[in-house]
Amino acid sequence: MFWKKHHYLLSDAHCHLLDFEELPEVEFPTFCVTTRPEQFCEARKLAENNPLIKAGLGLFPLYIKDEKADLLAFEKELKNTRFIGEVGLDFTVEENLQNSQIRVFQKILDLTEEKDHCVLSLHSRRSAEKVMEMIKGREATFILHWYSGPLELLDDLSENIFLSLNPAMIKSRTGKKILRSISLENILLESDAPYVKMKNGEYGSFLTSRVVDSLALIRGVSALEILQKINENYHKVFD
Ligand SMILES: [Zn+2]
Repeated sequence: MFWKKHHYLLSDAHCHLLDFEELPEVEFPTFCVTTRPEQFCEARKLAENNPLIKAGLGLFPLYIKDEKADLLAFEKELKNTRFIGEVGLDFTVEENLQNSQIRVFQKILDLTEEKDHCVLSLHSRRSAEKVMEMIKGREATFILHWYSGPLELLDDLSENIFLSLNPAMIKSRTGKKILRSISLENILLESDAPYVKMKNGEYGSFLTSRVVDSLALIRGVSALEILQKINENYHKVFD
């Protein structure tokens, strides 16, 4: 009942719409991230057809093929957007690949800093310290997507750093701690669909409602209040 009435207040700050088996109907504000610069063109078409969608220019760290060529392709598309994602680091690979990711991410940060008001959705698997160190003091809006690093790193989040929380995080121990402790000022919602799936295989932006329900329960605040605050955050970041 509650969600039937208020679902339009939801938002999804990290969703791979292009990787769905079938393109879903997008009914509330959604940041469509991509993983390769070539994918951006398609995402942009989606955004042109639906004002609720923002298209992200991405270069996923594990999908870097050729540093120079990939950065060139990225730079070329960057002329068309200030929305970036998914980019970042993933330290589940060997060291020389990590170093290549660091060089690419550094360059992306430099390029985006030259543009005004860039928004970046960041991957930081097993690399949260490095990602935080690299974005520190930079001028852009950063969204740490599916953050799973040390909690201490989140102690003094500056106002240009947000965390997008997804329905998988409400089940993990670290995730729950994050839900309990970070300021509402820094929270966004994400589905990371189709990659975050429920036990029954369900995925999609509507599942972000479960994050709101959990936040309400953990914090003893009404779901509506949380929903309105996060909606405000989303528009502050993306409008
Ligand atoms: Zn993702």
